Amino acid sequence: MTDKLFFNMSELIYSDTAIRYNINNMPDIVHLDNIQKLIHYVLQPIRLHYGVPVDITGGYRSRLLWQKLKDLGRNPSKTSQHLTGQAADFIVRGKNTKEVFNWIKSSGIEFDQLIYEYDSQGNVWIHISYNHGKNRRQVIDNYKGC
Ligand SMILES: [Zn+2]
Repeated sequence: MTDKLFFNMSELIYSDTAIRYNINNMPDIVHLDNIQKLIHYVLQPIRLHYGVPVDITGGYRSRLLWQKLKDLGRNPSKTSQHLTGQAADFIVRGKNTKEVFNWIKSSGIEFDQLIYEYDSQGNVWIHISYNHGKNRRQVIDNYKGC
């Protein structure tokens, strides 16, 4: 988490699980480029609109991290765009997540998928992805994430 107004690449690469199990979560050059585009076209415009920090709760997941999550029984999706650096989970600090979700939907921000996700503990967050030149602008209102 950070109080800065501008994103740092490390926010997208950070993972509690990677640190706990000493797993390499460094993206390759292609995934790094995807992460940069996700920040530039999606995350940074959201942060600038609200003027408050955007807390990334899930960012890049390397193959090794994905395997660890699978071993831990967390059921990570095989086709997840987190694996290619094209997706992030986040909340906007101090803002209602559903309102943020609705704002993004109606904003001109280009995205591939926008998903309002929740878990059984009552946590809610937004999953958003960006696929340069292939964005579908698909919106999913309620999805039980893991
Ligand atoms: Zn996600």
